[in-house]
Amino acid sequence: MAKTLETQGVSLDTNPGTVSEPLSTKNSALPDLDASKLTIQLTPNPKEVPAEGFNPSWRHDLTTDHMITCTWTDETGWQTPALVPYGPFQIMPTASVLHYATECFEGMKCYRGYDNKLRLFRPQLNAARMLMSSTRIALPPFNPEELVKLIYKLVATDGGKWLPKPGSFFYIRPTSIATHPALGVQKPREALLYVICCAFPTLDAKPMKLLASEGQAVRAWPGGWGYAKVGANYGPSLMASDEAQKQGFNQILWLFGEENYVTEAGASNFFVLWRNKETQKLELITAPLTDKLILDGVTRRSVLELARERLTKAGAVEGLEEIEVVERKYTMDEVALAAEEGRLVEGFAAGTAFFVVAVSLVSYKGKDIIFPNKGTNADGTGVYGGAIKKWLKDTMFGNEEGKKEWVMVIDEKDSAYNQQQ
Ligand SMILES: *Cc1c(COP(=O)(O)O)cnc(C)c1O
Repeated sequence: MAKTLETQGVSLDTNPGTVSEPLSTKNSALPDLDASKLTIQLTPNPKEVPAEGFNPSWRHDLTTDHMITCTWTDETGWQTPALVPYGPFQIMPTASVLHYATECFEGMKCYRGYDNKLRLFRPQLNAARMLMSSTRIALPPFNPEELVKLIYKLVATDGGKWLPKPGSFFYIRPTSIATHPALGVQKPREALLYVICCAFPTLDAKPMKLLASEGQAVRAWPGGWGYAKVGANYGPSLMASDEAQKQGFNQILWLFGEENYVTEAGASNFFVLWRNKETQKLELITAPLTDKLILDGVTRRSVLELARERLTKAGAVEGLEEIEVVERKYTMDEVALAAEEGRLVEGFAAGTAFFVVAVSLVSYKGKDIIFPNKGTNADGTGVYGGAIKKWLKDTMFGNEEGKKEWVMVIDEKDSAYNQQQ
């Protein structure tokens, strides 16, 4: 089974107001989520891995052999978690999730390192965020460490077959839904937590063009739930992103308020590297978490931590200037002005799904703002964004320059296939 999180050298973050806000079921007398009770039913019909490998398409519909499920009711608490064959489950047409969007999810990946080991990247942060999202929409709380252990077991079981090649990865989707079969608009009394693994295309997307939202559509607002990974954030944004795609853009850059504050790009966090007008210093800037408009991305945090640790000292990286790292509100007009004055250096978006992707252009008030992204990286990232991306990749795939304390190594001997039934 998974080593305890402490022995992995990672503590759950306690940044107030962000991922680890609510507590677990500590005070409840009902059973909490308990990975040690996991029951195992291996699939009698193993699927075939596509000849071209597991992450060739954008269809996002290829899943592995198994999934984790666990039901909860307000009378029983968390029931026995199960590792079962991937497949459909039944819910009633009256289920709360189908009417009131009582759903939240996580997005993480399992990576096959160049040293052939399987790794999860900071899974504790995803589990803590899932707890926060769940309680935001009245889904039951759980001990996030137990969720990590369940995810560990699933990837230990399916990772061997589905990720044979170093450098490959799949996407992991923990999900919680309210299955309570009643139409009353009320806090659900039954829920289902499940975890599935899905193929995802390779990491090296081309630079993106973004359309700034400029008030015709708003993603999140103060007092809302933009900071939680709840399904309700995504459905209502699809018309706007579809329209942007029809106009030749990859994503919306969501602005907020009359000031046109920059928030996020699609479902990823957004970063700008510019030269500060007054100090002339290079600054990596991104929107803050304080007003709860944006999602506290694990990639965002990791980008900020790596940049602070490795790029803020002069001469730390050969050929790179030292930079300042800033989390504050900033407006699209500031970005436009920086472009006009030749102070705009790089732009990129960061999230688990598409990793770190250069942004080459943002269309704002009918004008194209161009991000130079100077460098020789094949993916179009500039030298700074590219360096951060490389360190993240080194971490995920077990290379020398990675941060070893950020990963959980999976011992594949823990596969359910090795377990006596
Ligand atoms: C998932 C998500 C992100 C990225 O978060 P990561 O933890 O880095 O994957 C950013 N913004 C939104 C709105 C998201 O849903």
